[in-house]
Amino acid sequence: MKLPVLTIIVPCYNEEEILPKTMDELTAVLLELMELKLVSNNSNMLFVDDGSKDHTWNLIQVESMQNHLVRGIKLAGNVGHQNALLAGLEAAQRQSDCVISIDADLQDDVSVIRTMVEKYNDGYDIVYGVRDKRQTDTFFKRNTALAFYRVMGTLGIQLIPNHADYRLMSKRALKELLKYKERNLFLRGMIPLIGFSQTKVFYERKERERGISKYPLKKMLSFAFDGITSFSVAPIRFVTYLGFITLLVSILAGGYALLQKWLGNTQSGWTSIMISLWIIGGLQLIGIGVVGEYIGKIFKEVKRRPIYAIDVDHYSENLEDEEAD
Ligand code: UDP
Ligand code: MG
Repeated sequence: MKLPVLTIIVPCYNEEEILPKTMDELTAVLLELMELKLVSNNSNMLFVDDGSKDHTWNLIQVESMQNHLVRGIKLAGNVGHQNALLAGLEAAQRQSDCVISIDADLQDDVSVIRTMVEKYNDGYDIVYGVRDKRQTDTFFKRNTALAFYRVMGTLGIQLIPNHADYRLMSKRALKELLKYKERNLFLRGMIPLIGFSQTKVFYERKERERGISKYPLKKMLSFAFDGITSFSVAPIRFVTYLGFITLLVSILAGGYALLQKWLGNTQSGWTSIMISLWIIGGLQLIGIGVVGEYIGKIFKEVKRRPIYAIDVDHYSENLEDEEAD
């Protein structure tokens, strides 16, 4: 049996402090996998320098000259974690049978790489690394994350809770992922859409040893917001519902205003202003919602997401056989 070529993809942004350690640990893991005959000797690591301003690229270059398992790509500027990861995935798909994406900061336990590869060899196409405890995260981060998964779930967006971007993908799953041409990448929301056989492996997430997080609160919030708005038009529909509710309330408010007028409690002009205020408010919200519905449709169309991925295709196989006969 031919052993699979594995590429471990590591996006790096200003990671000079930890990178040497990361390279050593990943090299050790890869050598062990080769020795165990779980992956091919052509397997490698691909470090994607996301426009770092420190010595990250130097480190990658020097290491790649000394260590034949290390390769590097330097992006022309900082494009963000998801886009840097995509650059690595696109580069690796040509020559790798499977890829594993992992952060540069060693927060994700590298020892589960072996389990991921074993699952791949068992026939899984996608293996998610899932943190089973989040003790190292702050109370705030844990709870905001929980709230985020709840909101996404309510909006009908499939996400793997406590999974970030530590995962294995087979070549064919990767090929399907690369058919998604959208520009606002939220990979952890896109990958469950691909299908094929998917599974999880659990690990404990460690604290960042060196360097600082590149995801401050502001970036985290915008990432969460991007996740919601890239996968759901529910917020638009919410506006439409709000419009109908406002219109209903306007009947009550109108009744109340008329009652006050008959009881003589009002200044002249108040009743008509009250009634028109509510009715116009409701109609406007409905109008915005309806326009939004169409924009939502356009939004879905322009993404041009693939509609299906084929798992087994006996039809074309048979045709090819017949042609060969
Ligand atoms: N990263 C990147 N480009 C960026 C920001 C981050 O390539 O603009 C990389 C970073 O080097 C790391 C990974 O993305 O390998 C995750 O970032 P980080 O560990 O800072 O995020 P956190 O674990 O704090 O969420
Ligand atoms: Mg990190």
